Amino acid sequence: MKKRSVFFLCVSFFLFISSSLSAQIKYAVIPDNPRPGEPITIAVETELKQALLVRSEKQLAKADFFSIPGYMIAVLAIPSTVAPGNAVIVLENKIGILCEIPIVIGDRKFASEVIELNQTLTGIRTDPSPQRTHEANFLWAILTTNGDQIYHTGSFVPPVTSTRRTSFFGDRRVFQYSTGESDTSIHAGVDYGVPTGTKVTACGAGKVILARSRIVTGNSVVLEHAPGIYSIYYHLDKIEVQESALVNTGTLLGLSGATGLATGPHLHWEVRVNAENTDPDAFVARPIIDKETIISKMNK
Ligand SMILES: [Zn+2]
Repeated sequence: MKKRSVFFLCVSFFLFISSSLSAQIKYAVIPDNPRPGEPITIAVETELKQALLVRSEKQLAKADFFSIPGYMIAVLAIPSTVAPGNAVIVLENKIGILCEIPIVIGDRKFASEVIELNQTLTGIRTDPSPQRTHEANFLWAILTTNGDQIYHTGSFVPPVTSTRRTSFFGDRRVFQYSTGESDTSIHAGVDYGVPTGTKVTACGAGKVILARSRIVTGNSVVLEHAPGIYSIYYHLDKIEVQESALVNTGTLLGLSGATGLATGPHLHWEVRVNAENTDPDAFVARPIIDKETIISKMNK
């Protein structure tokens, strides 16, 4: 009997602690109604470890918090494959769950396209070489690494002045191989149909993490902008920056082309957040960290 009352005391003490901590956490979640493929910025004033996006106990996305003056920030990327509907943002410190924030993910339709590959391009896409595997693993290691530098907190500027697009973010693709077989994938970025030699510039301030030729993506550049946030530029004719260099918004990265797996000259521009493909247009539409909105939401 004595043991039982001690147990109840602990449970009620724990509930008191957790509910009072939860009540103390002030947060801002931006935007109000994110859609599949878009980022969610979470700002808190409390020391936190990570934010999770959860639905029916399944984790859809995860992000570590990083510090800016006055706040801790986490940027969650909603995968483009997530269905619309209710979800929960779970905020955790080192000990466990501190707060659960309900959100509604909006509806979004993605286009479909069929891409026919000739023998050469089929060979590139199905290349089983160790070099291709090495390149894929090397890039994945970059995209899953969170640095601690914050180079850019504002909006992104598109890397070319042209607005002509030949493929869109999240396109559901079928690749028809020259062998008669086919394969499906989801387009991870946006394609600008620009002639070879078009200037390609940095979408934001950052550090050049990768600037080299790759089998599938041709001459490729990867920039780091903030912890876990990267932009990617593929199929360049020429690279004009070196790895480890620091760049500003608008710095020339290279000239567009059709290297690697490309059916014609174009720039593929991609943004990754904690390794997840995220809609570049969402980063053009609003800043990564919108301090004014954070302040007004935090003080509601
Ligand atoms: Zn593309």
